[in-house]
Amino acid sequence: MKTYLAAVRAQLMVETYKSLPASRGWLLRMLEADDWWLRASRAHEICANLVIKNPAEKFYYRDVFIWLPDVRWPREGMPACPNCKCNSKVQLHAHADVRDFGRRVTAEHTHYYVASRRYKCTKCEAQAAASKAAALAMKAARGRAAAGRVSVEMVSQTFTGYNSVSLDLLPHGWGELFPAFLTKRAGLDKGLVYLMELLLPAGIRANKLAKIIRALHTVRHADDFIRREEDIKFERTGLAKDFLKDVPFSTFGDTTLYNGSTPSGKYFQDVFVMRAALLRPHMDMEVLPRTALAVGTLCCVPRGRCSAAWFGAQSLLGLTWRCPPR
Ligand SMILES: [Zn+2]
Repeated sequence: MKTYLAAVRAQLMVETYKSLPASRGWLLRMLEADDWWLRASRAHEICANLVIKNPAEKFYYRDVFIWLPDVRWPREGMPACPNCKCNSKVQLHAHADVRDFGRRVTAEHTHYYVASRRYKCTKCEAQAAASKAAALAMKAARGRAAAGRVSVEMVSQTFTGYNSVSLDLLPHGWGELFPAFLTKRAGLDKGLVYLMELLLPAGIRANKLAKIIRALHTVRHADDFIRREEDIKFERTGLAKDFLKDVPFSTFGDTTLYNGSTPSGKYFQDVFVMRAALLRPHMDMEVLPRTALAVGTLCCVPRGRCSAAWFGAQSLLGLTWRCPPR
C-alpha cells in the first residue's frame, strides 16, 4: 500500500500542476467519475496505469479518498485559512510528504486512507513576518543589557486541505462531503463516529466498542481469506487471472500486507470527548432560544459531602434546570 500511495501522490503532482478541467489526466478523470475515491476494487487497473510492477493481491489494497477542494470546485473551492478564516490570499504550498500522504481512517469493517495537500496563507505569512520584525526591533531598542527573550506569537501559515476549521468554512456545505473525523495521527469514519455517539451515551463502554470494532475487522479478514480460497480454486480452472500468488494469506496484523489494526478504547473515548467539545457551542445555541415552562435550582447536601471549594470559599454543588415546553 505504501508503494501504491507514493505512486498516486506522484501522479497527482503531475496532473494537478495544471488543474484546469480540460487538461485533467487519467487519475483526476477517474477520481471525478468515482466521487473522488480510488476504490480498492480498481487498484490493479490503477497499478497498471501507474506502472507498478508486481502489484500485491487485491485483498491488500484499500480505498483512498482524495480531498483537493480547489481542483474539485475550481471557482469557489479554494480552502479558507483556519487562522484568518479567509481564502483570498490562500495558495498551494506543497504536496504532502511521502510519509504523510494518506492518513489512515478506521471504518466499521475495514480502514481506508484520506489524502490532501498543503496550502499557504500569504496574508498570515506577511503578518507573522511583520510581528517577528517588530519583536526583533523591540529587542534591539532595549539594548543588550535589558534584552531578554522577546515572545513572538507564532501563527500557522500553512495548513492541510482537510483541516477541520477549513472544512467548516467551505461554501455550500462542501466540507460535509469529507468522510472522516481526523485526530492528530489517525481518524475515524463519520459513520463510525455517529455509531459511537449513539452507543456510548446508551451505556456501551468505549473499551467494549473497541472490542466490537476489532471483531468486525477480524470477521472481514476471515471473509477475505475465504473469498481468496474460492478465487484460487476458480483461477485454477484457467478461466480467470486474478494476480493471486501461491503463498499463504497474510495475517491480520502483518503491517506489510493486510495491515489490520483497530483503535483502542481510550482512542474512542478521546474522540468522543473531542466531538462533544465541538458540538457543545452548537447545542447551547440550540437550547438558549427555546422558551422554558419553569426554571429551578436543585441542590442536595447529604451531610456536607456536596460542599466544594470555589476560589478558596466553601460553596455548594447544585444543578440549575429548566423545563422545556413539550
Ligand atoms: Zn490566513
